[in-house]
Amino acid sequence: MVKPAAGHRPLAYSSPEAVQTTGTVAEHLIKLLADEVEERDTGGFVLRRLRTGRPPVRPDQRALHALMAEAARRTLGSGGRFEVHYLTTNQPVEIELAGVMDARLDDCRSALSGLSAGRYPADPHNPDNCPRCPHYFICPVLPN
Ligand code: SF4
Repeated sequence: MVKPAAGHRPLAYSSPEAVQTTGTVAEHLIKLLADEVEERDTGGFVLRRLRTGRPPVRPDQRALHALMAEAARRTLGSGGRFEVHYLTTNQPVEIELAGVMDARLDDCRSALSGLSAGRYPADPHNPDNCPRCPHYFICPVLPN
């Protein structure tokens, strides 16, 4: 059973190296809300995102999860881990991001650089996610 969070704890993510895109782009601040932060008596912590549904076949290493894990590391320190807890099956799945973290943060830097320049075309890496996008019904470039 998942314990209810004592309170949503905002994690501030702010780092020149992590989010500064180029020398011409100032530092960006991304705020993320964690569903649960469980601090361990033995040290370390588990940052947890709660999701409905069942776990996917492969661990979900999306950019949002990389940002959450990185924000937790910067806010709470190293020695933590990131989990997604799927409520339908009541199953926690640890998400290992070490192998993709650099690429995910590069994608975020690139997006931030584009936003700073007023450029952010709707060009999804994975169009399968479009039906869940809040802009789906008004998207001008809805993929076929
Ligand atoms: S529906 Fe449009 S805005 Fe939303 S993810 Fe897909 S392409 Fe991007």
